Amino acid sequence: MFGRLLKCVYPALCRHCEAPLEESSHLLCPLCREHLVLCDPDHRCRFCFRATQGKTICSECIEHPFIYKRYAAALEDQGPCRTLLSEYQKNAPQLFKALGSLMAMQVLQLNWKLPDLIVPMPGSKGEVFKRGYDCHLLLAEQIGKILERPKRELLVRSFSFQMWLDETVCFQLKKRSEVCDQRLLLVIDRFEKEQVRAACSALIEAFPLEIDVISLV
Ligand SMILES: [Zn+2]
Ligand SMILES: [Zn+2]
Repeated sequence: MFGRLLKCVYPALCRHCEAPLEESSHLLCPLCREHLVLCDPDHRCRFCFRATQGKTICSECIEHPFIYKRYAAALEDQGPCRTLLSEYQKNAPQLFKALGSLMAMQVLQLNWKLPDLIVPMPGSKGEVFKRGYDCHLLLAEQIGKILERPKRELLVRSFSFQMWLDETVCFQLKKRSEVCDQRLLLVIDRFEKEQVRAACSALIEAFPLEIDVISLV
């Protein structure tokens, strides 16, 4: 009764287009939901996931050696997906379930070998403190739940004044983080090449078998 009253006063709205929702537990209206389609991996670079003309590696990535084996995004960074991600990064931790599930579905659709460990990209301490939750950690947890694989925080951010000035990020392997011959899946919400490179450079010191990277966008 109270729920119904509340709905009359505050009808549940689509988080993207603000159309009224039939079902208040839904995040998006049917029209916006149709836009949440997993990215097609065909004709995309396996390192940066940009469209290529029939090649598996784009011309830019061919010039730089990569440490990870392959990377994919779950969705295009546009429309309802962009709205949901920006809300998630601001003040809607509960969205981790929907967004993490989409990322896990992409891993399954791509038919990647399942990882032994799901590794969240460490968030910046300031941001985590401000929000009260760690975006990557929650996504990694949800992906781990669906893929039935454990999540493990292997990295910490290093900090120096110079790095702050240069706006660079650097990571360190946590103590006792040997993961010899294990398959790792690095999780990040929005792909950033330099950050992923830095994280993978730290991860290889733990001698993993290989590293795959998944992002929402
Ligand atoms: Zn909508
Ligand atoms: Zn590329």
